Amino acid sequence: MNKATLVAQFEKVFGRAPEIVTRAPGRIEFIGNHTDYNGGTVLGASIDRGVAVALARRDDGQRHFHSRYSGRTVALPAAGEPAKQSGDASWTNYPLGVLAALPHFGLRAPEGFDYLAESDLPAGAGLSSSAAIELASALAFLGVTGQSPDRETVVKIGKHAENHFVGVPCGILDQGVSGFGKSGRLVFIDCAGPRFDTVPMPAGASFWIFNTHTKHALVDGLYAARHRECMEAAKALGAKLLVEVSTEKLRSAEASVDPVAFKRARHVVEEIARVDACVKALRAGDLATVGALLTTSHRSSQHLFENSTPELDFLVDALVAEPGVFGARLTGGGFGGAVMALAGPGFTAAHAEKVALAYAAKHGERPDVLPMGVGDGAAVL
Ligand code: ADP
Ligand code: MG
Repeated sequence: MNKATLVAQFEKVFGRAPEIVTRAPGRIEFIGNHTDYNGGTVLGASIDRGVAVALARRDDGQRHFHSRYSGRTVALPAAGEPAKQSGDASWTNYPLGVLAALPHFGLRAPEGFDYLAESDLPAGAGLSSSAAIELASALAFLGVTGQSPDRETVVKIGKHAENHFVGVPCGILDQGVSGFGKSGRLVFIDCAGPRFDTVPMPAGASFWIFNTHTKHALVDGLYAARHRECMEAAKALGAKLLVEVSTEKLRSAEASVDPVAFKRARHVVEEIARVDACVKALRAGDLATVGALLTTSHRSSQHLFENSTPELDFLVDALVAEPGVFGARLTGGGFGGAVMALAGPGFTAAHAEKVALAYAAKHGERPDVLPMGVGDGAAVL
């Protein structure tokens, strides 16, 4: 998905050239499961797939949005507050949410324009196409109006759009990784700040996503329940957030805390320690240790946080048995969704196919197999 393709597509749809083309990547939660709302840390990978946006201003007060995602052009007036859309126009809530967010950061939204989004990232696969379209949109709107706030502000604009306009209470991971990603590096986020950094991704490893298309019927309720359990566990341990609880303190409190609360707390406290250990192993180029931490993270989800499923466990078990796989874990909130494997060149498409077929034989449906590398963060092309 290069600039020339976007320009050609824009010309086909709108009959003229765009003024600006931007692109932002999707992301993988590398390690740091349910750590964000507990004030902890997380590592993410910006992937080499994303959403691109092409834009040219119009002077008739109209905003025309087009994406192959829905196929028809959505025409809306630029005047007044952006109104939330539904049905086959609901995808425009992402760019509209960005337009609505800009004034909250002291920034101006462009008036009328033609807008095109193109993607090589599957939507709804847990790879955060939503953050990608938000950040690509933000850079395009800012670019044509000659505004250049710092990167953290761009990230926060995307999150604001998703939280307040689209109405999804996501943390800072999705937009932070899409915004701060760098080819050959992983993004480290201390969610308490937030503070953003990158760490090197050792050469010779690639990511494989296995998307199961499964989703627990009660996923929203289960997510809320884990959130509540974590807050209650922190309180029982004399802390505001679990990030304040050390592994020693946790161990000494085991007998006095409710056993379920203890399991949830242990997952989060140890997961934050695993993020730390992972950063050290990445800096040392030690992929074997990184992989072991990924798989340990999954086992903790499976047994302590109980946000895994038999489908995800099956994939992790099958993947870690294959040659060249350093480690595997569920990625994202859990209760269905996708598994990520970190693998070396010894793991090939044929091995991935074998795992997919074994999964299909047991669980009926084939998972999508998506090999990917680490790519650059959001940018004007
Ligand atoms: P995820 O972020 O995991 O991909 P979400 O449900 O959060 O899943 O976001 C997916 C939504 O983002 C889609 O339903 C669509 O509204 C929007 N979207 C993603 N990619 C595009 C695109 N190329 N064009 C238009 N809308 C898109
Ligand atoms: Mg999303």
